[in-house]
Amino acid sequence: MSILKIAIQKSGRLSESSRKLFEECGIKITNGSGSLKVIAGNFPVEILLLRDDDIPQYVEQQVADIGIVGENTVCEKKKDVDLLDQLGFAGCRLSLAIPKDEAYTGPEFFMNKKVATSYPVLLGEYFASGNINAEIEELSGSVEIAPGIGLADAICDIVSSGSTLITNGLREVETIMKSQAVMIANRNISGDKKKILEKLLFRMRAVRNARENKYILLNAPEVAVKDICRILPGMKSPTILPLAEKGWCSLHSVVKEDEFWERIDQLREAGAEGILVIPIEKMIL
Ligand code: ATP
Ligand code: MG
Repeated sequence: MSILKIAIQKSGRLSESSRKLFEECGIKITNGSGSLKVIAGNFPVEILLLRDDDIPQYVEQQVADIGIVGENTVCEKKKDVDLLDQLGFAGCRLSLAIPKDEAYTGPEFFMNKKVATSYPVLLGEYFASGNINAEIEELSGSVEIAPGIGLADAICDIVSSGSTLITNGLREVETIMKSQAVMIANRNISGDKKKILEKLLFRMRAVRNARENKYILLNAPEVAVKDICRILPGMKSPTILPLAEKGWCSLHSVVKEDEFWERIDQLREAGAEGILVIPIEKMIL
């Protein structure tokens, strides 16, 4: 029987969320022995624990069939892989930053400057598109200290909160790309493995949908039901149940997390009371 080989980061900013995603999909991965290869107990997958930089290459060469990695790494490595899904975690951006007291008027600042980065390909493309002639100093890590020790005039690195930049006396001035964790796949996955992959993607989307939606219950006078149904379309349409008290009913539906507060205000105006909002564990459309 076929086994789908999945590469995830061994330890770092992607590893915990990647493991959690599999757990929520009902796939148990335990590697008590510290092994780099783990077979899931209850689903035909094998997890390879690797450095994130190597994942696009391993997926291209089919050492792994699929992988979870940052979009920034996929774009930098330029490997021939399919991008299947954005996973909604490890959000960050690739940005240029300069010493905080330097004046900045635009990208021409970087003309004839030395910029330290672990992303020479993406930075090179950015400078080329703006006809900026700058020197790129490639470093494999701790890029943010380069200006402080006189190794470079500026840096190009991954930023999320920006606190590392502030600690190192730097100021973010341009964003080159936005990124989040993505699922990549080899371009020639066989029929059997494709079936396993489809099952896995189905489960992942159910988890993602659940995260992005809430279950909502409320009471309303019957006269308000028409208006409330317009505010709460739900997956098909809301469930309406009569209450013991005459002239009142209970409505059940699903709302999107990002529209949630706006909907609540509209519902209260329409006459809804006793509103309960409950997290959804899995949601299959
Ligand atoms: P490895 O040892 O596996 O090579 P690493 O040090 O290269 O690890 P991490 O720092 O764990 O990598 O980051 C992995 C990915 O997490 C990044 O490529 C990026 O997509 C994402 N990420 C999200 N937020 C941040 C952040 N604040 N700093 C760095 N990476 C971040
Ligand atoms: Mg790395």
